[in-house]
Amino acid sequence: NEQTAQSRRFESAVTTSGDTIKVLANVTDVTSAQLAREEGAEGIGLLRTEFLFKEEKPTFEAQVEAYRSIFSLFEEVTVRTLDIGGDKALPYITLPPESNPFLGIRGVRLLKTHPELLEEQMYAIFTAAKGKSVKIMFPMISTVKEFEEAKAFALDVAKKYHLNLDHIEFGIMVEVPSVLFLITHFNDVVDFYSIGTNDLNQYLFATERTHATLKLDPRSEALFAAIKKIVDEAEKPISICGELAGDTKAIGKLIEIGVRRLSVSARNIAQTKETIRNV
Ligand code: PEP
Ligand code: MG
Repeated sequence: NEQTAQSRRFESAVTTSGDTIKVLANVTDVTSAQLAREEGAEGIGLLRTEFLFKEEKPTFEAQVEAYRSIFSLFEEVTVRTLDIGGDKALPYITLPPESNPFLGIRGVRLLKTHPELLEEQMYAIFTAAKGKSVKIMFPMISTVKEFEEAKAFALDVAKKYHLNLDHIEFGIMVEVPSVLFLITHFNDVVDFYSIGTNDLNQYLFATERTHATLKLDPRSEALFAAIKKIVDEAEKPISICGELAGDTKAIGKLIEIGVRRLSVSARNIAQTKETIRNV
């Protein structure tokens, strides 16, 4: 029950057959990162940085301070670079009018329209990370080339400001279906994978995740098959950071498929760990 789950929230989550599952948190800012710690998170699996940018663009100094505070809370932190476009708009960023924003300028594609914004963000992340190992991931990656370009952009930023990136790992969100068929190629270049089931499900079924009347099945056979394909073919660590990771009705199946790292909202940490203990 909930009380048991709460009292055991700092203990690790081990299944009945002895598999330890790492339970990480999805956070948006310093406050939610602190909450995640209090709730027993074992790290941050997804820092949705766009929330730091929500009302107005934070200054470089404010960004460094936020990243530094969050990095100091956990041993393991995965930062996602700005994921704007589609369902995520910023009041001060104008994107070209598009008939289908979910298929347009989104996520890492912002490198084409707003490179200065991403340059400043990366500089801030690298500055805050100094000496600490941090994982950086790019959203909406659909080809190996896109990842290579984004990583090269990051390396150029580091070079420009004379920052060392030895302790930084680079990975991708797996949320565009093309990636499912390119895993063997991505294995050569990425350090890790994080499956974004919210967008992956939307693109698999060509159904908007925010649609008012069309409802996506959150636990469809196709989505589990997609995850299984990634788990079977990936040669780098994988975590799931979409809503599915914290879905008590999905966790057993995800573990059966071979998933060993789940990133869920701070409020779901204790419950997720307790669910795992009963798998
Ligand atoms: C996802 O797409 O599953 C995800 C975790 O990212 P977001 O919901 O922020 O798009
Ligand atoms: Mg997404």
